[in-house]
Amino acid sequence: MKITIEGLSKIYPNGNRAINNINLEIGDGMFGLLGPNGAGKSSLMRILVTLMQPSKGKVTIDGYDLIKNRKEIRQMLGYLPQDFRFFSKLSTYEFLDYAARLAGIKNSKERGQAVDRMLEEVGLFEARDRQANRLSGGMKRRLGIAQALINSPKIIIVDEPTTGLDPEERIRFRNLLSSISTQEVTIILSTHIVGDISSTCKNMALLNKGELAYSGSPDEIVSQANGKVWLIKATESEYLEINEKYPVISTVPTPEGWEIQIVADQINGYYGQNIDPNLEHAYVYFMEKQLNQWSSV
Ligand code: ADP
Repeated sequence: MKITIEGLSKIYPNGNRAINNINLEIGDGMFGLLGPNGAGKSSLMRILVTLMQPSKGKVTIDGYDLIKNRKEIRQMLGYLPQDFRFFSKLSTYEFLDYAARLAGIKNSKERGQAVDRMLEEVGLFEARDRQANRLSGGMKRRLGIAQALINSPKIIIVDEPTTGLDPEERIRFRNLLSSISTQEVTIILSTHIVGDISSTCKNMALLNKGELAYSGSPDEIVSQANGKVWLIKATESEYLEINEKYPVISTVPTPEGWEIQIVADQINGYYGQNIDPNLEHAYVYFMEKQLNQWSSV
């Protein structure tokens, strides 16, 4: 499975430029699309699931063109949108049965088996008679994934699935995605939460203000932030200065003043040392670097 995105841009009718000239390749396994709110993640997702056409550029999935071969592409896709809702009073089972019908599983016995199997897989078998729109946030997301999986898609696109979940539900949901992503199934996970990516994704892209700030593996981006993360011991007045000048990751008060973690190429005149970067540091570093590149243009 290979998704090739070339020169992709989207400008909305009101003039908003949501994504700008993106070139990206997405292969097998779990792929993370990371970026702050407004970065253009949902716009890119909506284009990939053929709900919206790009203003410019081209996407192919295993050679199929997203626009010319829309029907074939749709058969390969499962989608869990950000604002997925369950209407009416359908039970969990009934909802998934309905989704299976929409997916074209006509034979009722076959459909029943598929629905039961899927409920087992996402850990909702016990909840099959409960009203779907009254399930907990995490259970709703899992039911959302189940409906996206019901027609055995090759690509599953999941938009901000962990927003609003408590930590336990979030971990459970990430583990579920990991268990689904195999050689045969590509999962594209869009998120603004760094932890969603670090624990699960083999490859990732960083999107900022519609531009691609980075693409590669999470390990690579972290290693590129080597030597860029500093722990500075600062006095009260230095603390205020540093806060103005650098992106601050964390601050801890000490008896002498403050210990501040920042990302920067250099720290001129302050007393500090490099520390090992993690993905959160790398994320802030790359976002900042891209902002600076723009401001210096
Ligand atoms: P993200 O999913 O990363 O939060 P979006 O793709 O939702 O980003 O938004 C990217 C940009 O496009 C934002 O500036 C947003 O305001 C704008 N945008 C999104 N949807 C529309 C729309 N339907 N019409 C106009 N502008 C939009």
